[in-house]
Amino acid sequence: IPTTAYRPIQALPDTLISQIAAGEVVERPASVVRELLDNALDAGASQLQLRLLAGGIRHIVIEDDGRGMPAEDLALSIHRHATSKIRSLDDLESVMTMGFRGEALAAIGSVSELRITSRTADSANAMMLDASSGEMEPAARSVGTTVEVKELFFSTPARRKFLKSETTELGHCIEAVRRHALARPDVDFAVWHGGKLQYQWRGPELSRAQEPDHGVDAAGFFEGLTETFKEVERAQWDRRIADVMGAEFMEYSVPVDHQEAGVHVYGRAGMPTHSRNRADQQYCFVNGRYVREKTIAHAARSAYEDVLHGHRQPVYVLYVEIDPHQVDVNVHPTKIEVRFRDGRLVHSAVRHALEKAIAPSRATTASAADV
Ligand code: ADP
Ligand code: MG
Repeated sequence: IPTTAYRPIQALPDTLISQIAAGEVVERPASVVRELLDNALDAGASQLQLRLLAGGIRHIVIEDDGRGMPAEDLALSIHRHATSKIRSLDDLESVMTMGFRGEALAAIGSVSELRITSRTADSANAMMLDASSGEMEPAARSVGTTVEVKELFFSTPARRKFLKSETTELGHCIEAVRRHALARPDVDFAVWHGGKLQYQWRGPELSRAQEPDHGVDAAGFFEGLTETFKEVERAQWDRRIADVMGAEFMEYSVPVDHQEAGVHVYGRAGMPTHSRNRADQQYCFVNGRYVREKTIAHAARSAYEDVLHGHRQPVYVLYVEIDPHQVDVNVHPTKIEVRFRDGRLVHSAVRHALEKAIAPSRATTASAADV
C-alpha cells in the first residue's frame, strides 16, 4: 500500500483488538503458564497440576482445586477487562491478588483454542466453556478449575514463528512454575510433559492460604500475611527452596531474615563463594509476586560489592514483604515490574538484610583473600 494514499480511519474489530493486546501478555507458552498459575493461586488452590505437550506450544492444561467459578462468571471470565479482583481504583492501590487487569484469559483465548471447565462447591456439576464458540455445556469434575490451551498462536502465524524449540519453550514453562513454587511453599505443584512427570514440589498439609475477600482492608490482610509467614515455619520455606534450588544451593547459602522500617526481608542468600557468571538465579518476590526490580537488584549488588569480583553474580531467593500501599504493581502488563513509593526504604532493608546474612562468610572471603 502506498503510504501517500488516503486511508480512512476505522475502528478495529474486537478480535483484532484482542489479538493485538494479547501481544503484551502472551509472548510464549511460559506466559500462558504464568497467567494460569496466577489465576489458580488467586482462586485459593492448594494443589496444581500442569500438563504440557511440545513445550506447551501444542497443549497446556492447568488443573486446580481452587474455588471455581459459577456459570455466569465462567462466561464472563474470557471477556476483556472482566475481573473479580478489583472494583475500583482504591482496590488497585492495595491489591494482593496476582491478577487484577482481567486481560489474561481474553488474551489467551484470542491466540489459542481455549476451554475452561469449572465447578464451585455449591453446584452439582461443572460447566465447560469453549472460548471460541462461547458455548457452554455441563461437564464432570470436582470443585476447581481446568484451563486447557491448545495450539498457541495457531491463528497468528507471525507470532508462532517467534517461538523457539520445544525444549527451550519447555524450559521457560518450567522456570515459570519454579517461580510460583518458590513463592508458595504451601501449595503442591506437579509438572508433566508429554505424559511424563517432570517435577513435583509438595506442600505440607496446611490450611489453604487465605486470600482477601473483596472489601477486606489491606492493612488487615498485610498483618495476615505476616502471620502466615510465622505460621508457615521456616523449615517449610527452606524445604521448598531446597526442592526448587537444589541441595547444593542450601549448602552454600545462609538464611536471611531482617526487618526494617516496615519492610520484612527473608529467604536465603548464596555465599560469595557460590556466585555465578550469570544473574539467572536471583529470585525476588514482593508480597508473594515474582518481580524483577531495579532497586532490589541494586541493593543486592551493593551488599555483595566487596566480596564478588568482576561480573560474578550472587544467587539468592528473597521475599520482601511490605505494606501493599507502598507498591505500585500496575506498571507492566505482566506485572513483573513494580514500583515502590519509597525506594530507599526497600533498598536499605534489602541491602542490610543481605549484608547481615553474609557477614560471616564475608569475613572468611576477606581473610582468604589476604593470604
Ligand atoms: P484477572 O486474573 O486479572 O482477574 P483473568 O483474565 O486472568 O483476569 O481472569 C478473569 C477472571 O476469571 C478472574 O478475575 C477470576 O474471577 C476468574 N478465573 C480465572 N481463572 C480462574 C481459576 N483458575 N479459578 C477460579 N476463577 C478463575
Ligand atoms: Mg489472571
